[in-house]
Amino acid sequence: IKLYFQNKPLCSRFVVLVFFTLQGARVLVTGASTGIGEQMAYHYARFGAQLVITARREKVLQQVVEKCLSLGAQKALYIAGDMATESDPDKVVEFTLEKLGGLDYLVLNHIGPTPFSVWKGDIEHTRWLMKVNFFSYVQMAWKALPSLEQSKGSLVIVSSLLGKMAGPFTAPYTATKFALNGFFGSLQHELAMKNSNVSLSICTLGLIDTDSAMEKVRGVIDVPAAPASEAALNIIKTGATRQEELYYPWNTFAVTLTKDWIPFATNYIIRHAYNYIP
Ligand code: NDP
Repeated sequence: IKLYFQNKPLCSRFVVLVFFTLQGARVLVTGASTGIGEQMAYHYARFGAQLVITARREKVLQQVVEKCLSLGAQKALYIAGDMATESDPDKVVEFTLEKLGGLDYLVLNHIGPTPFSVWKGDIEHTRWLMKVNFFSYVQMAWKALPSLEQSKGSLVIVSSLLGKMAGPFTAPYTATKFALNGFFGSLQHELAMKNSNVSLSICTLGLIDTDSAMEKVRGVIDVPAAPASEAALNIIKTGATRQEELYYPWNTFAVTLTKDWIPFATNYIIRHAYNYIP
């Protein structure tokens, strides 16, 4: 390792360090059939982790697992589950603990599909989305905490800039992300105050070029989207280095500052950034 590090730039030393941390690590990634979750599965696989992935579509999960094995995962398994149900969040964690013999990283990333449109009073959808995007996260985290405590592991929550500031056309989604930030922000304090072994990272992402996100914003807003694979790698590094927060891309952090410092200007920019005719 010492020889390898000689004359290597800082960033590649960092990637090698993460590589050694993650080799053989026991990882559960949710929402890993597509998008950022799928890209995280491939990165963990390249780092030689032991992986369990989950989402609803079994056939797609099967294909992702096959690719993970070809990329170098020590182990790659899937379990299909619907996070809107009461039983599946527990079932997925139990399956992982049984198959991997414990857990080092729990990466909660899944989201239910939601319209990108003006709020039209669909309470049922909001309730359902809250179950998928929020309650299942709480349930899985609670189920996995004893194992993470034992392994000095990490809990990683994938959130959004919309968990820090509201935007139009995403009221139910924004509510679920604010709930995540509030709940896990509180838990972060509690874990630190009781000197827990578990690190908790909350990841604030801006617009990322996944198919589902691009489909929604195309023609409505013209903001550059960051690459999903790079977003995935940054989330993994944040968990592996036990940082409390990630802002990706970097300008999401700047936006969280301007919304408090110059709210009028920020609101003006937000309201004029969309192609919307009432
Ligand atoms: P995708 O829509 O690409 O992926 C969502 C994943 O969740 C899929 O694997 C889907 O698989 C799974 N899923 C959907 N519904 C359920 C359900 N009921 N139960 C279990 N799994 C489900 O999302 P992204 O990759 O774009 O986003 C990933 C994360 O990043 C999310 O937390 C999102 O909020 C966050 N983020 C993304 C941004 C972006 O611009 N892309 C911006 C900011 C944050 P299946 O259909 O097979 O169940």
